[in-house]
Amino acid sequence: MLDRCLGPRRARQIQRVLRQGTVTFLCLFLTVVVLRGTVGAGKFGTPEQDFNDIRERFYTHNRRVEPHRVLKEATPETNQNDADQAGQSNNYAEFDISKILKDEPETEDEKRNPNQPYSLGPKISNWDEQRSDWLKKNPGFPNFVGPNKPRVLLVTGSSPKPCENPVGDHYLLKSIKNKIDYCRLHGIEVFYNFALLDAEMAGFWAKLPLIRKLLLSHPEVEFLWWMDSDAMFTDMAFEVPWERYKDHNFVMHGWNEMVYDDKNWIGLNTGSFLLRNCQWSLDMLDVWAPMGPKGKIRDEAGKVLTRELKGRPVFEADDQSAMVYILAKGRDTWGEKVYLENGYYLHGYWGILVDRYEEMIENHHPGLGDHRWPLVTHFVGCKPCGKFGDYPVERCLKQMDRAYNFGDNQVLQMYGFEHKSLGSRRVKRVRNESSNPLEVKDKLGLLHPAFKAIRQSSSS
Ligand code: UDP
Ligand code: MN
Repeated sequence: MLDRCLGPRRARQIQRVLRQGTVTFLCLFLTVVVLRGTVGAGKFGTPEQDFNDIRERFYTHNRRVEPHRVLKEATPETNQNDADQAGQSNNYAEFDISKILKDEPETEDEKRNPNQPYSLGPKISNWDEQRSDWLKKNPGFPNFVGPNKPRVLLVTGSSPKPCENPVGDHYLLKSIKNKIDYCRLHGIEVFYNFALLDAEMAGFWAKLPLIRKLLLSHPEVEFLWWMDSDAMFTDMAFEVPWERYKDHNFVMHGWNEMVYDDKNWIGLNTGSFLLRNCQWSLDMLDVWAPMGPKGKIRDEAGKVLTRELKGRPVFEADDQSAMVYILAKGRDTWGEKVYLENGYYLHGYWGILVDRYEEMIENHHPGLGDHRWPLVTHFVGCKPCGKFGDYPVERCLKQMDRAYNFGDNQVLQMYGFEHKSLGSRRVKRVRNESSNPLEVKDKLGLLHPAFKAIRQSSSS
């Protein structure tokens, strides 16, 4: 309780003072003052009540702390040795995490009958009707939250295992924090997936079973936005032009000529895309999935894709090449509802963007989303969570930091701060505190036109 009110560090300090028996009136008086300031008015009553309440909390809390802990703190070395002998070291740096996070072998019952074709789940053919019935019966969960503003769920995720190197997990954390910021500002919900829902669809194929499950479980969601863990928002103000996609179901960054004419394997990118919740999308997932099952199927499919697509290296089938292949072969079937966007960076290849951030800051402003201020910077090929990537590690990590800080500046600025430089974790003040904080007109923060539009649409 005390921990919750004061924060654990503050609480521990206070406990220590009390434990040592130096409870003086002054100390308690000060504590009352501090607590009143921290917890805020309304929580406590008169000063006497406060005093009793706090004393009550401190002493009962304190009594529950085992004497044991005090001893440990007093004689760390002795206890450390004892603990080591018992295999109970307190040292995180030396602990082998694989003791706990063991790789479990796949059990027989999880294996699919190889004679049956792979499927994402039972065939559904009337999803549009099922969903529209549901929406009629649940008017409290509309699929549009404003005029031309669909309800959107951003979905991202990473492997259930820790990264191959500890710093990879730090970058995953930065990346999800970045997505949370963008989504909070734009009224988008976030789903982070850690679970491998289908063992056969590991790696870049893991998104397919997940996306299907989410579409079917969230009929209220109109658009699902998949975003890779190695992609970050670099324009916090840009709002997706939803109106533009009213007649489309699937939006990816790409170019018609490169996909349909050249069959180029990088004619589109599947690291950040929008998929409408409808029967068409379920059908598309069914057509997309069969090259995914790992092992022989994925390896053989990889050969077909390398043979059929322009510029593709030799490797197992990946979801992006499979999509280029499906569209190039079946333009008549799918093309009409697919929008290949290149008016702004729904996905932006990092290699051509990261060295230009300073120039962008100099000449432009957030809200543009294109080469002047890219919506997304995607670190394709960096594989920060793996052992090896396709680019030098130093360049990848340094540029991921810069991209993160570039986006984070737009968040910090709303609160009067920014990073000292794009390469710095540290921040500096860019606005003095005001005694009328609500009167402050910031450069591009909460009063930026894009955010204003969002606030209006969510309050209408
Ligand atoms: N991913 C996942 N679970 C896994 C492995 C990967 O959800 O077990 C996701 C993760 O978000 C990752 C994406 O799949 O960003 C695609 O992989 P990656 O970004 O490494 O491919 P690239 O963009 O470099 O082609
Ligand atoms: Mn990626």
